[in-house]
Amino acid sequence: MKALGLALISLLPLMSTVSCGQSADSCTEGDQCSDDADGDAMNAAYEDATTDAKADTYDCSGVRVPDRNGFNKRVVLTFDDGPNPATTPKVIEILHKHHAPATFFNNGMRYSTAAKALAYQIAHDPDFLLGNHTQNHINLAVQSAATVTSEVMKTDALIKAAGSNMKYLRFPFGSASCAAKHYVEGLGYTVVGWHIDSADWCYAAGNGYCKPATFQYVDDALRNDMIGFIMQQIHQNNGGIILMHDIHQSTADHLDEILTRMEADGFTFARLDDKTVLPKLNGVQVKFIGDTCTTNSDCTYTANGAPGTCSAAGFCTAACTTTCPDANGKAGTFCIANPAGPSVGMCVAKSAPQNNSCALLTHTSARTLPRFSDPNVSALVCAPN
Ligand SMILES: [Zn+2]
Repeated sequence: MKALGLALISLLPLMSTVSCGQSADSCTEGDQCSDDADGDAMNAAYEDATTDAKADTYDCSGVRVPDRNGFNKRVVLTFDDGPNPATTPKVIEILHKHHAPATFFNNGMRYSTAAKALAYQIAHDPDFLLGNHTQNHINLAVQSAATVTSEVMKTDALIKAAGSNMKYLRFPFGSASCAAKHYVEGLGYTVVGWHIDSADWCYAAGNGYCKPATFQYVDDALRNDMIGFIMQQIHQNNGGIILMHDIHQSTADHLDEILTRMEADGFTFARLDDKTVLPKLNGVQVKFIGDTCTTNSDCTYTANGAPGTCSAAGFCTAACTTTCPDANGKAGTFCIANPAGPSVGMCVAKSAPQNNSCALLTHTSARTLPRFSDPNVSALVCAPN
């Protein structure tokens, strides 16, 4: 996140003085208006989306998606920065041809009469979701609460008028701060990042050639091959949310082949609100070590390289040798000796507000116990009775 923050500080002056002969409202992620600056932001966003070492930064990221894997070759298509009456109708036509659901994150500043008609069409199509990409596509990571609210709510009113009651928002450039994300969530929105950047903005900016100086994360062999770059990432990630832009003619022109290639390789298309593909994004409460359970199927996480299990004492656990993973919002965890298996430890929750000092785990009691492999370290944990 540090890299992102620095990149965005350098982005600001350029964003406010668009001087390439285009109007500000044609500026998108990485387009020609502020080529290098947008490239900085999108390079940082790429790192944030793909680097698992940054998992603990999710709370403040506009890019990271809480669901990281398990997509099972399902692809969630998203299109930002429209509607554009010159290109969006072709995108819609190709999506229909492939029976592919998609989400369009619109900018309110685009809403000419013709664009409003497209927004209405998207909002009333059962395969499509209409999302909020804010009014003016400015970097909200460095704006006041009043500006963030205004940017979100102006477009909120427009997409409501178009007939959408969806509350999905994507930050411009994927750029958020803890405060901005907090404000947006306070307005009832779910923040949607992406797993895969198609870099269609970069290929469009270079007339089919994505320049290394603009976006660094493209293999040299794929600098002239947007579809190859997309397919490489789709295979690496086994699916997930992909970022594209329906405002680019080149995206509209290549979409049929992109979707055909995905289908040929066994991928299918899923909706953003599909809870089987993106459970955490869509608010499904996923159980973790220390949560109550009745069967192993309640404990669907992976910990220390193995599936979670439900202990005889009625809480989710996992085998361990030294440590146990923690999860955002959950009680901390600890590895203690397992009376049932002396050669391996068991993960338990520490006594914490989340379990009301172990009172919510009825077959446990709060005790100070040593770590399984290190008696010099101990913790107050909810130990099975
Ligand atoms: Zn955008």
